[in-house]
Amino acid sequence: MTKIARELANTEPSKLTLEHVGKTFNGRHGEVLALDDISLTLNEGEFVCLVGPSGCGKSTILNLVAGLDNATTGKLTLDGRRIKGPGRDRMVMFQEAALFPWLDALGNVLFGLRLKPGLNDEERRQIAGFYLDLVGLSKFTRAHIHELSGGMRQRVALARSLAPNPKILLMDEPFSALDALTREQLYGDLQRIFTQRRKTILFVTHNIREAVCLGDRVVLLSPHPGRIREVFTVDLPRPRDINDPRLAELTSRITARLKQHLKENQPAPTE
Ligand code: ADP
Ligand code: MG
Repeated sequence: MTKIARELANTEPSKLTLEHVGKTFNGRHGEVLALDDISLTLNEGEFVCLVGPSGCGKSTILNLVAGLDNATTGKLTLDGRRIKGPGRDRMVMFQEAALFPWLDALGNVLFGLRLKPGLNDEERRQIAGFYLDLVGLSKFTRAHIHELSGGMRQRVALARSLAPNPKILLMDEPFSALDALTREQLYGDLQRIFTQRRKTILFVTHNIREAVCLGDRVVLLSPHPGRIREVFTVDLPRPRDINDPRLAELTSRITARLKQHLKENQPAPTE
């Protein structure tokens, strides 16, 4: 096996644990308890979606796992090791692709690989090419970012996140800014990649149907303070189609539960 083949064959997904994680922000109007007692385990190679309305702490959880911020209480571990800051074992993808406009698609993916040790330029190019191919952009490796559609930019961002071969992929509403048709294609591609590369994925969305389409489990959060309300297992075969009526039943069940939790949480009306 060549070095490149070995590198590409090695997927080793991680196990992520959050134990009693709390996060308090000191906002302009005093302290905000953004997360309250969050405990969650993602097993190796599991695809978990966090859903809930705006402000329930989804991005905060993702940022803590990414090591971009610190928990106020509790602890986070990746394969038993405490998460203390950012690392190449965890790659993040956001709603806006944040690509470098002065680099082409290949250049952007190579940028993600620049710190990966033990590879020469040619090997880096081969790996970047492999991932651009995986996301369906083999014909666009030399295209500049401004020449690419929104969906293609997110594909470049996905290739850039995958190229360093992270042990866990963190995605924060990555498809929210795309049109429905482009999103559908990406649901299919992400599931294919997930099956082929067997990554652990933590995926944040406010779109419950999207979560049911993609996740092995869907974790429902509610705001003020951000808490895990319920966890649903999605028992449907892959690949799943977002338009498959079998998604509808679980989607409406989760939606109904969310509405129930929000109602229970509402402050009593004042006279
Ligand atoms: P979501 O991603 O689910 O929409 P966030 O994780 O962004 O929610 O935010 C959760 C809560 O924490 C919100 O009430 C938000 O206003 C608050 N919050 C998030 N980041 C900060 C910050 N840097 N400073 C103060 N408050 C914050
Ligand atoms: Mg958010």
